Amino acid sequence: MHDNETNEEVLLNHNVWNFLKPWVSKNDAILERKTIYTFKSAVAKKWMKNRIFIAGDAAHLTPPFMGQGMCAGIRDVSNLAWKLSYCLNFGHNKNLLQSYQKERMQNVIEYIKTTMKMGEFINEIGSEKISNTIFKNKDGSFKMSTIKPKLGFGLGDRNDKNCGKIFPNIKLNNNSYLDEKYSKELLLITKSKLKKKLEVLNLNTITEQNSKNITHIFLNLKIDAVILRPDRFILSSLKESSNIHNFINFNQNFLNNFK
Ligand SMILES: Cc1cc2nc3c(=O)[nH]c(=O)nc-3n(C[C@H](O)[C@H](O)[C@H](O)COP(=O)(O)OP(=O)(O)OC[C@H]3O[C@@H](n4cnc5c(N)ncnc54)[C@H](O)[C@@H]3O)c2cc1C
Repeated sequence: MHDNETNEEVLLNHNVWNFLKPWVSKNDAILERKTIYTFKSAVAKKWMKNRIFIAGDAAHLTPPFMGQGMCAGIRDVSNLAWKLSYCLNFGHNKNLLQSYQKERMQNVIEYIKTTMKMGEFINEIGSEKISNTIFKNKDGSFKMSTIKPKLGFGLGDRNDKNCGKIFPNIKLNNNSYLDEKYSKELLLITKSKLKKKLEVLNLNTITEQNSKNITHIFLNLKIDAVILRPDRFILSSLKESSNIHNFINFNQNFLNNFK
């Protein structure tokens, strides 16, 4: 819309048909609904006050160019839900609750920034003003790389480069998915050869024998075991060659909060 236009004017049927003219005419379709959307990018500074949390659009607004606004809201509540549940079951844990905003805010900012670039791309297509995440192929077509930003640092080990990455929702051998079976508790996924050594963590455990996808994912992440949080983000990862005792001690300390 231009500054000199009013909502009423723009929504007049003949104007809407005029917008649609390059693609659709009155002979092809009927108008069922017309509305004007505005969009902007915004992130609230404070997502938690005393016993109150905000999530979804109340905490952040994402322009619609990547279809990620509600997805971000769903990620917020899946981050918060298990933390609230753990506090209710095992006692109040301030650090756990404070990690909510630390983790989610950084992640959502990455999505918003990329969405803004995507908007720039959509609005500038055909011009040279294309952003860094968008590549021009040799044949002149454009390609945009997918992003999977990590959570901001909240829980886990800052030196663990996989901490805060999302783990795929893999299919298990019994045809169920990880989310269906393991979204309420922490989960250890390990190569079977390490299963015995990691038993001491006393976690629900699956190995490559439970899903053929695990070997491939471990290869990509360069790991031999991983602990997933209930929201399926990585809490901790282990490379067999690194110190397994440190891995066990670190995670036992974390788990001791929940006994
Ligand atoms: C054009 C467009 C396209 C989009 N496309 C996508 C997409 O493809 N994918 C995607 O993931 N997201 C998309 N989004 C974003 C998505 O719609 C929003 O992120 C999502 O709806 C936010 O959900 P929410 O529950 O956080 O907030 P809302 O949907 O805004 O819900 C808040 C609710 O609270 C109510 N409310 C407000 N104040 C009060 C009060 N004081 N008391 C009681 N109730 C109150 C409101 O009436 C509303 O029902 C799109 C948005 C737009 C505008």
